[in-house]
Amino acid sequence: MALPLPTSLSPSKVSTFKDCALAFRFSAIDKLPEPPSMPAVKGTTVHRALELLFGADPADRTPELAQECLSEALLEMRTVEEYVGLQLDAAAEEAFAADAALMVERYFALEDPRTIRPVGLEMMLEADVGGVLVRGIIDRLEEDADGQLVVTDYKTGRTPSVMQEQSRLGGVHFYAFLCQQVLGRIPTRIQLVYLGKEPQVITTTPSEQSVRGMQKKVGAIWAAVERACEHDDFRPKKSALCNWCAFQAYCPAFGGDPDEARALGLALAAERAAARPVAVDLTGPATGVGDVAPAMADPAPSAPTTA
Ligand code: SF4
Repeated sequence: MALPLPTSLSPSKVSTFKDCALAFRFSAIDKLPEPPSMPAVKGTTVHRALELLFGADPADRTPELAQECLSEALLEMRTVEEYVGLQLDAAAEEAFAADAALMVERYFALEDPRTIRPVGLEMMLEADVGGVLVRGIIDRLEEDADGQLVVTDYKTGRTPSVMQEQSRLGGVHFYAFLCQQVLGRIPTRIQLVYLGKEPQVITTTPSEQSVRGMQKKVGAIWAAVERACEHDDFRPKKSALCNWCAFQAYCPAFGGDPDEARALGLALAAERAAARPVAVDLTGPATGVGDVAPAMADPAPSAPTTA
């Protein structure tokens, strides 16, 4: 039986599909929940601290203010489901905050935030490309001294080796493609700002050719997703990533049954639909059942996560 198509494509969905089509199905089509991950939640916290920092006047963007922004971000995280789900005890919370503080401190070794002119922070860009909704969140979009756009993507994971650099940079052209589609401009530079143990900035320069290449790639991946959905043919691809995969229990490569994941996905979808608020039109005369509007087609957007 054909499976429903996912509602959109994002950089993380594209890379999941390339890494393992079956993991993509579990995540993007069955929408199985994944347990919160400490690195991802820490990354979200640091992203939020830097977002708050760039909301301040340029002259005020000092390391001291950045740590205050981190305190505020940590406070906010206490009500976020993913953070709560980590179930940290007091010592683990302290270690979490100390790690995040170190990343915020390292940021200042890489850039002087007082010189940066952001035009967008945690900015969602969406474009309909040939009937496919393509979307991505840009951590920071700024204009350089010449008025050219620069995209910055913060990374809180390990800095890649020289060999890995090009493959990491391949994905960021997705953002250049989105800028061209939504803003009509190709950024002059895209930079990955690594805040882990070996802080580093890796930069690439997009071009019309690289953006065209990304457009073709997105089209090819979407066509492959459509084919896989039509034939319900999402194959597992074993790799080192399996060690971190939340879906091993449903993966045939590990003795699991993907049909169980499908059943769980459908049950969860029904549960979500039942829990959705129903909008009532109060402007017209109440005539009964017909006045109740259908529930919204799309769930509310989730909080940005990090890669
Ligand atoms: S365990 Fe490995 S092969 Fe199986 S779905 Fe996850 S990533 Fe794919």
